Parts: sequence; C-alpha cells; structure tokens
Amino acid sequence: MIDAGLLRHTSAAMFVLTQPPRDISSFPVPRRILMGPGPSDMPPRVVQALGRAAIGHLDPDFVHMMDEIKVLLRYAFQTTNALTFAVSGPGSVGMETCFVNLVEPGDKVIVCRNGVFGGRMIENVERCGGTAIIVDDAWGDPVDPDKLAGALRAHADARLVAFVHAETSTGAQSDAQALIALARAHECLTIVDTVTSLAGTPVLVDTWGADAVYSGSQKCLSCTPGLSPVTFSERAIARLKSRRHKVQSWFMDLGLVLQYWDGAAKRTYHHTAPVNCLYALHEALVLLKEEGLENSWARHRLHHEALKAGLEALGLEFLVQPSARLPQLNAVKVPPGVDEALVRRRLLEEFNLEIGAGLGPLAGKIWRFGLMGYSSRSSNVILCLESLATVLRDGGLATDASFAVGAAEQIYSKWNSQVETNDCHPA
Ligand SMILES: *Cc1c(COP(=O)(O)O)cnc(C)c1O
Repeated sequence: MIDAGLLRHTSAAMFVLTQPPRDISSFPVPRRILMGPGPSDMPPRVVQALGRAAIGHLDPDFVHMMDEIKVLLRYAFQTTNALTFAVSGPGSVGMETCFVNLVEPGDKVIVCRNGVFGGRMIENVERCGGTAIIVDDAWGDPVDPDKLAGALRAHADARLVAFVHAETSTGAQSDAQALIALARAHECLTIVDTVTSLAGTPVLVDTWGADAVYSGSQKCLSCTPGLSPVTFSERAIARLKSRRHKVQSWFMDLGLVLQYWDGAAKRTYHHTAPVNCLYALHEALVLLKEEGLENSWARHRLHHEALKAGLEALGLEFLVQPSARLPQLNAVKVPPGVDEALVRRRLLEEFNLEIGAGLGPLAGKIWRFGLMGYSSRSSNVILCLESLATVLRDGGLATDASFAVGAAEQIYSKWNSQVETNDCHPA
C-alpha cells in the first residue's frame, strides 16, 4: 500500500477519481489457429523474440540489428535497393508512405482495382491531391494488362501506376512483371502492394523493375502486426528529390525517416522505433533466410495443393481461376443454403480456428482460408478440413471428413520428401 501521507501530496488525495470496472484483469489470450487473411500464426521463436527486454532504440546493438533487418529485407524483396527498411506501422502505413512520397498535387495516377486494397490506393491518391485513373477488373480476376495498356495510351501524362500484386480480399494474383513493364514503357513509376505475397509467392523487385514496394509483417512473414517492409528504387528517390511540394505527412516523409534508418554518419532521433516488434521481424527474417525463399514459396504451394484437394473433396469451388490463384489465400464459394457466418463462428468457438469472410461485393459469398507463413503447415490443413467437414455436415451437407483428409494426404504422400524438409519451418 502507498503511504497515506504520500498520497496526500498527489492529486489522488485532492480529487475523486473515476475508477475502471473491477472485473478487468490480465487478458487470457485464447489459443487459436490463424487461417484467415492475416495475422498468421507466429512461430515460437518469433514469440520469444517479442518478449525480450527492450533496449534503447539508439543503442549501438539495436542499430546493428536494424542494419541486419535492412540486409534481410533486401533478400526477401530480391533487391539491391539501398532504401529498404521497415516502416513503423501496419501495411496500411507502408501503403500510405509510398503514396504520400510519390504523389504530388495534380499528378495523374493509374490505379488498377480488382479488390479492396486497390480501392484504398484510390483513396490515397485523392488524399494526396492527385487524380486517380481507375482500371477496374472483376473481384476474383487478376488485373488485365490490356486494360492497363489502354489506360496508359489514353493518359500519356500519367506519372504513376499502382496495383496490388496479391489481392487478399479475393485470392487473386496479378502478373506484376507484365504490369510493371507496361508502366515503364510509358515512363511511369510503379507502386506495388506485396503485403500478402512477400515470402509466399515470388516477389522479385529488381527483376520486375518496381519502384516503390510495400509489404506487411503479419502475413507470410508470420511476425507480429505493426511493421511494413518497404523498398524504393533509385528512380523513386529521384522523383522524391524533385518534388515541388513538401510531403504533407511529417511522420512518413522519407527524407526525414531516412536520417533515422539510414543516417550513415549519425543516427538522429525521428520517432521511437517499436523495439520489440523489430526484434520479432529480425527473427522472422532469420527464419526465412534459414528456410530459403524458394523453399518458403514451395511450402506455400504444397500446403495450398493439399488444402485445395481437401476443399474440392468437400464439394467446394474456388473463386479464382487456377492460373491466378494465390496459394496463401484460398477463396472458396459458400455453398447455397449454408449460413456462412455460423460456419465461421463454429470453427472459431469449437475448433479455435479462424478463417476469413468475404469483403465488399463478396461479403457472405466466400470464405477465405489463409495459409500464410507459419500457418502454412500440414497440421493446420488437416485440422481445417476435419473441422470444416464436421460443421458443414451439421449444416446438412453430405460431407465426409475422412474423404477430404484423404485427398489432402494423397497430395502430401506424393510430395513426401518435400513435406519432411519444408513442413518443419524451423521453429
Ligand atoms: C493486409 C493488407 C494490407 C493492409 O495491411 P495492414 O497491416 O492491415 O494495415 C494492405 N494490402 C494488402 C493486399 C493486404 O493484404
């Protein structure tokens, strides 16, 4: 107890304070399996890294760790871009960082929209004072390069092209290489969202020639939410340096952030880095390095094939055509007559399994099964198929859990040797 005499010298003795409800105490985190659109399950080593004691964010050891994060992110993005780091903020802040730095008032920006996140890009362009030229594709389809080519021809004064590589709202992947080649032929810079693709499917920033690329920590990197890896080409930096207007965001102005992340001589204070989140990102990137990017891509592909076989054995149909399907985000149509929200609730409450719902025009029409990062493993695939079969059978469908699991296991036995090497995502 605090001495009453001491209390008398504080405001507590002089005012009647309102008190929080008595029944609030430490949060008992439920055990969940995360197979939604993110966050994904965190591997034990990442969880441990988060729990280490904080050190100062200007501590030389911390600065060294931040330098290693930059090196590891260049590997993840497959780039030599010097300006590669993690923005302190979720993927949405990475998105906004790209737009506020590269779009100036009056700029024309072609935005390809085939889902939720393309829509957010339009918002970003408009809030920067730019004009968005919208290239729409159906939700569930990849971006059509011919439509982009048409928009580029019709708007020769466009300065930027922005698109989402992996649309998490639908599970469709677009051909980044083709879209970027078109933009470059028209001397447009590109902003590319790789939040869901990074570490799950190939993201080849230098091969593609992309200019501003952002991602997120909590999807296929399986780190805690709250960080956004970004990378910028020399062309993007040149555009930034030739700006006529100040970047309207102080926090996201790359010129200022750089003195913190990249201050070659002396690191100056910009904001307090989320120290523990960065420990976790470092560990997640070390795990990626230990596994190897190509093995990570192959693991995502393998578990997708197994889940797909099982889902199809349950009679479910995919939303996206096979050539554009993301292995890490499986969108399937809700069968007629099934209460989709009830299915998700039962999976969560009875099986501790989180899956995603449809958004926008797909709300109520699809389920989204994420197989991102550490969530992409055989035990999750089997649990998902078993529990989904049970819940759907209770809902009146003629589903057979052992048939679905058997279909997945057939895929695994076909790839047996790979399962053994890839499934034990070093943890
Ligand atoms: C999740 C996601 C984002 C936003 O990331 P947050 O961390 O939720 O802010 C942006 N784009 C895509 C494609 C995403 O999947």
